[in-house]
Amino acid sequence: MKAWLSFLGRSAGRLAGQGLDLVCPPRCVFCRADVPEPARGPAVVCDACARRFASDVSRCLACGAPASSAADCRRCHGRCRDWDGIAVLSAYADDLRSTVLAAKRPGGEILAAGLAALLARKHAEQIAAWGIDLLVPVPMHWTRRMRRGTSAADGLARGMAAALSLPRRAALVRTRATPMQNELEPVARRANVRDAFRASAVAAGRRVLVVDDVTTTGGTLAACRAALVAAGAAAVYAAAVARADAAESPAA
Ligand SMILES: [Zn+2]
Ligand SMILES: [Zn+2]
Repeated sequence: MKAWLSFLGRSAGRLAGQGLDLVCPPRCVFCRADVPEPARGPAVVCDACARRFASDVSRCLACGAPASSAADCRRCHGRCRDWDGIAVLSAYADDLRSTVLAAKRPGGEILAAGLAALLARKHAEQIAAWGIDLLVPVPMHWTRRMRRGTSAADGLARGMAAALSLPRRAALVRTRATPMQNELEPVARRANVRDAFRASAVAAGRRVLVVDDVTTTGGTLAACRAALVAAGAAAVYAAAVARADAAESPAA
């Protein structure tokens, strides 16, 4: 009897983990708290975690730097040459930093789905106003992907596509393996990724949102945008879960 009950408990837990809420209420993907009536979407997030991860300083929607508005942005004065606009969940620090790192590890897909749900929820109106019709993840070079087996950007784009009911395509490829951006000084990062991407014809005429986990100097997202524009994209916006504000310098 005891063994049977324990089997039932394990099965219910496993099914609940797959989103089949048979016995237990669904749980927050971050803190495992019960969430009796979760918002519709690809991942369950409790209100406390939503506040914890989505609270942020106000940002310039053109470049992403902290600013009360794009017009008041001291970094770009409302005109960013790297992309047409950017949506950021929060600053790369504290809990968000450790969660982004955990989302990159094998088994972290559910955390990526939770972060994607929060990013999509926070900027749903803005993304609709931008007229986005295609989500594209920042790609890993295939050699790195073979080693790691998972890409956080891919999981984020998948989660955002589900939350926003928008299509997602792997429209970018890396044409060469590059050293990790975080192993380089900020000034070397742009040169590191310049011309490292190629976009497929599926981007032609589309209003694209390029999705990545962390942006620091913006070099990777800017290089992705250049490749998409070369393939005929009508507009290219960026979305990142976290922005490393402290690492920026005006020239980077
Ligand atoms: Zn939670
Ligand atoms: Zn700005």
